[in-house]
Formats: sequence, structure tokens, C-alpha cells
Amino acid sequence: MPESHPDGDHPTKSVAFSLPVGRGNLHANARVPAGRTTVTELLPVIRNIETAITGRVEEEAQAAGHPISCSAGCAACCRQMVPLSFFEAEALGGWLRSLPENVRAELEKRFLRALTALREAGVIDKVLDPKFEQSDEFAAGVTIDYFKAHVACPFLENENCGIYSIRPLVCREYMVTSPPALCQNPAENDVWGLDLPVKLSHALFSFSRKLGQNRRGWIPLVFLFAWARRGATPGDSVSGTGEEVLKKFLDEVAEAVEADKNRGPALGGAEKANPS
Ligand code: SF4
Repeated sequence: MPESHPDGDHPTKSVAFSLPVGRGNLHANARVPAGRTTVTELLPVIRNIETAITGRVEEEAQAAGHPISCSAGCAACCRQMVPLSFFEAEALGGWLRSLPENVRAELEKRFLRALTALREAGVIDKVLDPKFEQSDEFAAGVTIDYFKAHVACPFLENENCGIYSIRPLVCREYMVTSPPALCQNPAENDVWGLDLPVKLSHALFSFSRKLGQNRRGWIPLVFLFAWARRGATPGDSVSGTGEEVLKKFLDEVAEAVEADKNRGPALGGAEKANPS
């Protein structure tokens, strides 16, 4: 799976920063482009930061006797609606266009099959209903209907993620500690996950919301092909030198952390499907 790194052949700069994670601060250095970049182009750096955050949280949970129960081959959560920020949609759209025609055509068929199954289950009409954006209660009901339709993410291959290295942030933030069997029905079972102190996905949703394209700031991943056809480049709205864009992103993270505190603890089982 291709994974671009901002280094490329262009000059880069190391930027030090810290984030409140677990029992202390996560101090890190990120290597970012010295010249102009966009938040979409910075996604490889953002994914690396996410890996550092989830790694720290997982270590602390393990030490406290709450190991993560997710394991390779268990993809129960990959039947939920996956919220994708516009920037991640832009990056995945570019990745799709880089694929050989036959591979892209096969993937497009999978997306169409998933959309057809969801339409037959009545889910697509509900996602397109204006109430999906206007009412959190309505949206929560739709996410449950989505899961009950049992339609796998089109990127799922033999119960493993086919885009693991470039999977969305929400997929990285879903860390379950309850018995895996409960994930077969998270709407009715008590599924518990780690409540990450910093959710980078929420910062991207928040940036996306500011673009004013929809109230939630994300699209369901299953709409990716249709969205990518528009060729939109929302990342251009958050651009500057690598250091400037990273700073804007970290400021947005700080705002998202405050907003999450006011919202209260997230439900482990509902978080992937209902992030806002
Ligand atoms: S992108 Fe990968 S991890 Fe996320 S839901 Fe799809 S298959 Fe699962």
C-alpha cells in the first residue's frame, strides 16, 4: 500500500511540539515540508502523531490491566459507518486515481455493491435526509441502522483492512477493551473502548466544518468514490509552510480537546459511528 511521506525530494524542517496525552505530555518532533503545503498533504505526519498517541494510551491501559482486545482478523467494527473528513477523502481520492485502472474499477464495484446493499436496507435515504445533519438523535439512529445492515467497508479484504497504512483516523482511534464477541452487536451490547484524551479525527472534522460544506464535517466513507469524482481540494483552505499548517492543526486539536471535554466521555461502541 503506497504511503507518501512529506520528505520526498523537497526540503523539510523538524518542528518540536507537545500534546497532553495520558498521564503527561507527549513531546515529539515532526518533519514537515519547509515550503508550501496543505493539511491534506500533511496527513502522513498527522497519522504518525496519531500512532504515537494511541501507542502511549495503549501502553498505559495495558499497565492498568485493560489491554486492547482488538486483534488482526477481527473486523466487526468495519461494518459501521466510517466518518471521513474532507481532507482524508481528498487524500484517498488521489490515491484511488493513482491505482491501475483495473484495480480501481474492482474497488468501484465494491463501493457500488455496498451502496446498493445500504440503499436496499433504507440507510442511504436516511443519510441523505437533511435530518441526518440537523439532529444528533436522528443520526445516531441511522448509524445503528447502518450497522444492522451488516455491510462491510469496501476496503475490507478477508477481514483485514486493505488500506491499513492510510486508513482513516477514526479507524485508528477505535480501541476496544471489552470482549471481542460483544462487538458483533455494539448497538445492544456494552462495548467499551479507550476514551482517547486527544482525538485527531475531531480536529479534522472541526476544520472540515469550518469549510461549511456540511454541519458534521465528514462524509460516510462509503460515499468516497462519488465524492472523489468532484475533484475537490479542501486542503487548499488550510495551507502555508509545513510549520504553519502543523501549528494550525495543533491549535485545532486543542480546540477539539476542549469541545470533547464539554461533550463528556464518548461511548466506546458508538464513537466510530457517531463522532459528533
Ligand atoms: S478503512 Fe479499513 S479499518 Fe477502516 S473500516 Fe474500512 S476496512 Fe476497516
